[in-house]
Amino acid sequence: MKAIASPTPSCCPPHRNPHTPMAAPHSPHTSPSSLSPHTSPSPPSSHSPHTGWRIAIGFLKTALLVSLLTGCAQETINNKKPEADEKLAVVSTSTILTDLTEELAGDEIALTGILEPGADPHVYEPVPADSKAFESAELIVYNGYNLEPGLIKLMNATGVNARKLAAAEVVAPLRMDYEGQKVPDPHVWGDVENAIAIVEAIRDDLVALSPEDEPVFTDNAAQLIATLKKLDIWIEQQMATIPADKRQLVTSHDAFQYYAEGYGLKIVGTLIGTSTEEQPSAQTVTKLVEDIKKTGVPAIFAETTINPTLIKTVAEEAGVKLSPQELYSDSIGSPGSEGDSYIKMMVSNTRAIVEALGGTYTPFEPDNIVEK
Ligand SMILES: [Zn+2]
Repeated sequence: MKAIASPTPSCCPPHRNPHTPMAAPHSPHTSPSSLSPHTSPSPPSSHSPHTGWRIAIGFLKTALLVSLLTGCAQETINNKKPEADEKLAVVSTSTILTDLTEELAGDEIALTGILEPGADPHVYEPVPADSKAFESAELIVYNGYNLEPGLIKLMNATGVNARKLAAAEVVAPLRMDYEGQKVPDPHVWGDVENAIAIVEAIRDDLVALSPEDEPVFTDNAAQLIATLKKLDIWIEQQMATIPADKRQLVTSHDAFQYYAEGYGLKIVGTLIGTSTEEQPSAQTVTKLVEDIKKTGVPAIFAETTINPTLIKTVAEEAGVKLSPQELYSDSIGSPGSEGDSYIKMMVSNTRAIVEALGGTYTPFEPDNIVEK
């Protein structure tokens, strides 16, 4: 069990050297059940809050008129309330949180995921539609520990009255160096036990805001947590197949500290720290190459959200293999890809690591895993 941290305000180092902002027009990841304020409404499955309000106000006016004529305003209004407005409006920031929230709540909420699969939360620059999503949300599920500084800043702006859940901050953080300071490492989902704590926190907030749906949220959470517990055991089993002296990890950015700590790997080094805003120095690259040669790791890894050019060069200079399978670090994969859910990304990463480091991969079959 992980210790539960007391609520900590997010640390917000200055946002410098942003990579390319998201291309406009912005098209967020949404589930089929999602009601996205970013897309134009196509009732009844799509919903723009502003359009929705206009429709509601228009309807109220009509209802009032009818009531003056018939004297039954209350009944008319209650009977005709648009169904979409009854669903809890939830906004999630990272694709990992969007996936877990969707698993928990299914069709019971109107969920909008802001980041798209493959997008890098560290450097994401919000677009106007994100403000609108935040302003009309009743619950915002964000990672915290400064994973998504642009969105955290926007969320804390005036006009956002939603309940806010810093989902990753329910876990006591490991610390990372950032500009000479020790700051919380935001990549807590790397250890599945932490993902379970996140799921429990999201479930509790959903229940608090929509108590009538408690049975659904509770059942879905129980099923998801049961699978996550098996995933946790399975990853441990997979790691145990890697020769002990090869259980060492080199990645582009430092997103795998929790994974390494949770599953017995040693981090040899990374090109850049926790935030992808940083650029590695020539000395960092040279030292990493030397460290890789010294430790004798057979392979190193690129990541799906990071340009692989430099890590490729490091692999060539160190004379090691670059794993053909990139690791999913800060985002799940796009729909249809090998890592298009939190569970699948963890399976894909584990497979890539096991195969590249000389272990024996066995597919994840939850029914075959016996809980401890
Ligand atoms: Zn990261």
